[in-house]
Amino acid sequence: MAILVCGGAGYIGSHAVRALLEGGEEVVIVDNLLTGFAEAVPPGAEFYAVDVRDSEKLGAIFQKHDIGEVMHFAASSQVGESVVKPLFYFNNNVYGMQSLLETMVRHGVGSIVFSSSAAVYGEPLVTPIDEKAPIAPKSPYGESKAIMEKMMRWVGAAHKIRFASLRYFNVAGAIEGGAIGEAHAPETHLIPIVLQVPLGQRRNVTVFGDDYDTPDGTCVRDYIHVCDLVDAHLLALDYLRRGGESDRFNLGSEKGFSVMEIIRAAESVVGRIIPFSIGPRRAGDPDKLVASSEKAKKILGWTPRLTAAEEIIQSAWKWHSARPLGYKHNDQNKLKDQNRNEH
Ligand code: UDP
Repeated sequence: MAILVCGGAGYIGSHAVRALLEGGEEVVIVDNLLTGFAEAVPPGAEFYAVDVRDSEKLGAIFQKHDIGEVMHFAASSQVGESVVKPLFYFNNNVYGMQSLLETMVRHGVGSIVFSSSAAVYGEPLVTPIDEKAPIAPKSPYGESKAIMEKMMRWVGAAHKIRFASLRYFNVAGAIEGGAIGEAHAPETHLIPIVLQVPLGQRRNVTVFGDDYDTPDGTCVRDYIHVCDLVDAHLLALDYLRRGGESDRFNLGSEKGFSVMEIIRAAESVVGRIIPFSIGPRRAGDPDKLVASSEKAKKILGWTPRLTAAEEIIQSAWKWHSARPLGYKHNDQNKLKDQNRNEH
């Protein structure tokens, strides 16, 4: 039996694929290469440049490889873009989930580990945020993840599919050795943006607001290393294999770092001053988002290890400094442009 990794050519999916292969699993990847890169796929995994929304092709892959479980990373994930293109997000994410669940039902596959997000909580009233916090997304992206979770719940109840929904906080860093890492175009995430300064790709960092209700006035976020995140996926897979009930788990390091703390930590990692300026607040940014991951620790037995800001930035720096332009530009970019323009 093989594990289907949807979105296995993306940032987090490609890290998960490596960990699964190391654990001796048979891995089949489906990725439409809209934001993923064929180059991020390691030898040893079967790869299909297929969109999860194409249920006919997806079904043929289930048939050919005797798929027994699914890890689902395939989704669009930029909050700002989702506000401008909500229909694209609902189509790619929500319809993508519908197509995947339909195919799972058709082929009797009963187990899925799902890449969810802290964005389902919106602006929480209480910190740290546990899984009982109200679901109140503030963007089409967060809404799409909340809907995808609900779809798994209803479809799971009707068709005996069990799921582990993993709600990520701010994922960062790269695999040891820096062979793969984060590559978005355009880049919007803080740590890669900060590292673009020492790479000579930008003059300075704009800090989005310094008048938040936090110790230094800049936003506090919970940064979780991608390898710790992947560990939680393996544990969630194991949890479902042992017959665990469908459940949701917050994945964060439970530590909060402000934007200024990240800039300072990056300066100490790269050994250079990183100039910054204070800009206006970015719409929709809450003061502080820090996870309680007690449930994942207790039920999955998860312990994040790389939780110091310097450790996380060091591993991201290794990747970005080795590959300043990220992955090679490939023909699939044409496909990306086509897909983006469809909605
Ligand atoms: N941020 C910033 N300048 C940037 C990019 C991000 O000040 O150029 C801030 C952003 O306002 C947020 C934090 O950094 O408070 C993390 O943002 P990111 O986009 O990485 O992740 P998010 O929290 O939105 O998921």
